[in-house]
Amino acid sequence: VTPPGDDAHNEGAVAALDAKGRVLTGFRPTGPLHVGHWFGNVMNMVRLQEDHEAFYFIADWHMLTTHYDRTAELPGNVRSLALDLVAAGVDPSRVTFYRQSDVKEVAELSLLLGMITPLGWLERVPTYKERLRDMAERDVANLGLLGYPVLQTVDITIVRGELVPVGEDQVSHLELSREIVRRFNRHYGDVLVEPRALLSKAPSVPGSDGRKMSKSLDNTIDVRDDEDAIRRKVRSFITDPQKVRLGDPGRPEICPIFALHGLFSPDIYEWTEENCRSGALPCVECKGNLADRIVAYYAPFRERRDELDRTPEVAETILAEGQAKVRAVVEDTMKAVRGAMSLG
Ligand code: SF4
Repeated sequence: VTPPGDDAHNEGAVAALDAKGRVLTGFRPTGPLHVGHWFGNVMNMVRLQEDHEAFYFIADWHMLTTHYDRTAELPGNVRSLALDLVAAGVDPSRVTFYRQSDVKEVAELSLLLGMITPLGWLERVPTYKERLRDMAERDVANLGLLGYPVLQTVDITIVRGELVPVGEDQVSHLELSREIVRRFNRHYGDVLVEPRALLSKAPSVPGSDGRKMSKSLDNTIDVRDDEDAIRRKVRSFITDPQKVRLGDPGRPEICPIFALHGLFSPDIYEWTEENCRSGALPCVECKGNLADRIVAYYAPFRERRDELDRTPEVAETILAEGQAKVRAVVEDTMKAVRGAMSLG
């Protein structure tokens, strides 16, 4: 049994940035989208749909691996995420956009791939141990969480996904999927497609405490926050602690407000840097400038989102159309899998 991550097998794991092929990416419906999601994932999805065949799905079964006790939140979260993504620019007429649990064959293939995935591979996945540690107060040491990488492999292979957009730190996760595919193909013939990582350049987005923006750290600005909430949250951000009085020079490179200016304020980015360093710019004014730009940036999104909210059934309609579109590919893959495994 070859352990995942063996360097001898890494060759070809990462696709060139301009690689062509079918792209697959999923999103867990765990709550409101924040600015970190927006620049880390959503904008990438909108860009990739321009020149790739894209399959995007809402990973509601994945959410159960850690939130199995909160299923009452799921329908609302799924609906909300679907509308957020569409308002952000994901175009359901262009991509195949569906809900994971609408494709019941995902569960079937997950069972089958589970049969050939060595337990040791799953137990060694660092994120498994991290999750167990981070969620120690909750009872998540379950088979579902351990088998998360198998379910992920199914998501990709069931639609014959070739490219999976990931950050550099996630390439090793995909390597496990590649190992599972190789093991399956060794046993049953060349049936499943080995996916490659499409390295995406996601800026690091700091939250109000300077750490990575994350819902669990309660340091986010959400993309559907109204103007008051945006201004209040921006005011709560830490800045350079050495810049205390007006006239004190600041260090923009360590300030999360300046990092966000890099995303929202191309018009005053250099000006902000100069005037922070010289001490001429008070942090209060700098934060006000940023809040103005975040409010303006998300105004068209919020308008489209409000429009979609006026017809609440639209999310289900979009996902039903996605389910119909993904069906043909899934049936094709499952026919090949069942045939190769001599199953009925
Ligand atoms: S002036 Fe702006 S960039 Fe400089 S420390 Fe204050 S908030 Fe940060």
